[in-house]
Amino acid sequence: MKTLLCPACRNKVSLKQAAATKKVNGILMLQCANCQQWSHENQKAAVVKKLGLILLITGSVMGYFQLGGTITGPLIAVIGGLIAVTTLLAIPRVIYNGT
Ligand SMILES: [Zn+2]
Repeated sequence: MKTLLCPACRNKVSLKQAAATKKVNGILMLQCANCQQWSHENQKAAVVKKLGLILLITGSVMGYFQLGGTITGPLIAVIGGLIAVTTLLAIPRVIYNGT
């Protein structure tokens, strides 16, 4: 699920497929192998995605220990996973024009 699209040419950009990677102010930049455009994850999307992943992990742990019954934990995990995946797919990457 780590496949994202280049904002310039819609080519797939991922850590494995990127032409190059670098970090600017702690933000991971990926260079598109197709058009050489640098791009990075939308910062707001990154925060929401992180929240979703936290929910996913919390729900999984709750489900494992059956905290709050048998349904609450898995339900939270599913919602967290959906949030993480949806933000990843719905919010496009940001073109980076710096050097
Ligand atoms: Zn591209």
